[in-house]
Amino acid sequence: MISAANPHAQYESHRREIDAAIRGVLDRGEYILGREVLAFEKEFAAWVGVKHAVSVANGTDAVHLALRASGIGAGDEVITVSHSAVATVAAVEMAGATPVLVDIDPVHFTIDPERIEEAITPRTRAILPVHLYGCPAEMTAIVDISRRRGVKIVEDCAQAHGARVGGRRVGAIGDAAAFSFYPTKNLGAIGDGGMIVTDDDETAAKARLLRQYGWQARYVSSVIGWNSRLDELQAAILRVKLRYLDEDNERRRGIAAKYTAALDGSPVVSPAIRGEHVFHLYVVRDERRDELSAALAARGIGTGIHYPLPIHLQPAYRGRIRDTGLAETERAARQVLSLPIYPELSAADVSTVASALAELAR
Ligand SMILES: *Cc1c(COP(=O)(O)O)cnc(C)c1O
Repeated sequence: MISAANPHAQYESHRREIDAAIRGVLDRGEYILGREVLAFEKEFAAWVGVKHAVSVANGTDAVHLALRASGIGAGDEVITVSHSAVATVAAVEMAGATPVLVDIDPVHFTIDPERIEEAITPRTRAILPVHLYGCPAEMTAIVDISRRRGVKIVEDCAQAHGARVGGRRVGAIGDAAAFSFYPTKNLGAIGDGGMIVTDDDETAAKARLLRQYGWQARYVSSVIGWNSRLDELQAAILRVKLRYLDEDNERRRGIAAKYTAALDGSPVVSPAIRGEHVFHLYVVRDERRDELSAALAARGIGTGIHYPLPIHLQPAYRGRIRDTGLAETERAARQVLSLPIYPELSAADVSTVASALAELAR
């Protein structure tokens, strides 16, 4: 079976360096907010092209604490999408704010800028675009709306480490941004991890307080805080993997190009590209998605659906969150299919998938 993702393959390909990094942490006996975390924050900030990076325990916390550090909380509305991981909307509510859901652009599956302005109210404080599947959101239009209407931008970059649009990496465009290092993400830990990035000194300082009990100094809390820290082992592992991330993203793009070529002339719609896409997922659109998925499975090719049920239709959220019409979101949920893509996918497996597509997707 060719799996849709395979984080273990990444460990195998960097085993020696990762083992040495883990050994180093074990030998030093420094576990929390030590030198690996510090170094990783510096290296990641430089890689994204921002002044500050503040590591946290996971991507959901990164969105949650990026919002709080940006001064967003109770009584504030945050405009985002329903076509995303549930974490996006969960994090808005964790911050005490109110999510408002707008539809996606059906070509790129990211927030439709034309639908943002009609959702703005006097309580709107931020737009939370998600760079979904590795494709940057339409940031030029979003930055324009943010400036004109005086609302902040907090980017959800959990699926787009390294993607670029308008010459800048995602995470370096909004007022603050959040990354996840869940194992299958483009930069994945061997466990959980997350990062808040920003150019703003005050937002970064606030995020540092919030991630550790609100401590201004040891045992002295100046604000109410949480406990959300990245640990030394994960930081050491992520430092190794960060060195290969550009190369890994290049591999993902190479695989995507082969699939797209195989789908040329097919009614199955291959992904649209905006800026530099990093293909966290390779997602096609097909009216007969379930048939295509079954036919691929019969040939030993695994697929996924991201996501089968939009957030606003899930039991925890249904009927409870304001939206401004989500027809494209609901249509996408019925038609999207994610094909196998990860940097270690072998050339033979890529050919198998591409040939299956050329044959089945017509
Ligand atoms: C993975 C993901 C998150 C959450 O990250 P975790 O590390 O799993 O908490 C948030 N937003 C999006 C779009 C994601 O894909």
